[in-house]
Amino acid sequence: MLDNTRLRIAMQKSGRLSDDSRELLTRCGIKINLQQQRLIAFAENMPIDILRVRDDDIPGLVMDGVVDLGIIGENVLEEEVLTRRAQGEDPQLSILRRLDFGGCRLSLAMPADSVYTGPECLDTKRIATSYPHLLKKYFDSKGLTFKSCLLNGSVEVAPRAGLSDAICDLVSTGATLEANGLREVDVIYRSKAVLIQRAGELSEDKQALVNRLMTRIQGVIQARESKYIMMHAPSDKLEQIIDLLPGAERPTVLPLAGDQSRLALHMVSSETLFWETMEKLKALGASSILVLPIEKMME
Ligand code: ATP
Ligand code: MG
Repeated sequence: MLDNTRLRIAMQKSGRLSDDSRELLTRCGIKINLQQQRLIAFAENMPIDILRVRDDDIPGLVMDGVVDLGIIGENVLEEEVLTRRAQGEDPQLSILRRLDFGGCRLSLAMPADSVYTGPECLDTKRIATSYPHLLKKYFDSKGLTFKSCLLNGSVEVAPRAGLSDAICDLVSTGATLEANGLREVDVIYRSKAVLIQRAGELSEDKQALVNRLMTRIQGVIQARESKYIMMHAPSDKLEQIIDLLPGAERPTVLPLAGDQSRLALHMVSSETLFWETMEKLKALGASSILVLPIEKMME
């Protein structure tokens, strides 16, 4: 058995969430040596063990209390919750926070030449999907039914192979659908990666560690969404310049050595400074305009 005093976090071993999950944990200061084939990686500098598994297993590992935390797509989580409820279970877990990666949508798609006027078009039709419970929830909410064709891969080839009339699959750019002669007709669910925690109280030490981790995750995500903006600006244009700057925060204003007519402005902004705004700032006399990424933040 694993050491129960260490916080266990499950993440996808390889796939669309694995790089971002690993990067998030690394940016939170967790030193992990992820050797490719190992199921468990031990953090060197904190009492944390990382379990690397198929993403489908993560909700169950958290619901069953085998691990304390998990990083998983909401689509997979919700499908597992609905599956367990359909089996008469009452799955328990909490969502600690939504993360800033793994964005995708679960969509209905049909052969490109078919007519779609709404989900009613698909009433009683056969739909291929890996997410039968999410699809049923959507169809139930519309008072419609469908025949399921459960596929855990290659869903997009089902209509062409004559297995189904439509599909319900994950989409991010739509390129895969297009390549298979399909057209996205409706979005039924929007998903992102989430950090989840098992039900039940954690030990005092583990809870304190989770709290620290949450503060760091907040800092990492906030830093990724923010920019540090610096520039020199003419003193008499200060208010006009400030009006152009994105974000609600007022900038710090610093004097420039040996030049009373100009000032240095520094600010953290949660919005990007667009080229158009930079051009307007320059037209007002601003110079040395720098937009820098922020590595870490704590408020
Ligand atoms: P595993 O081998 O771990 O079971 P998988 O093949 O089931 O992996 P991936 O394709 O790696 O899963 O996708 C994992 C998750 O990434 C999805 O469940 C979804 O939440 C998210 N995701 C983000 N963009 C996309 C996309 N374009 N297509 C599919 N999933 C996406
Ligand atoms: Mg999977």
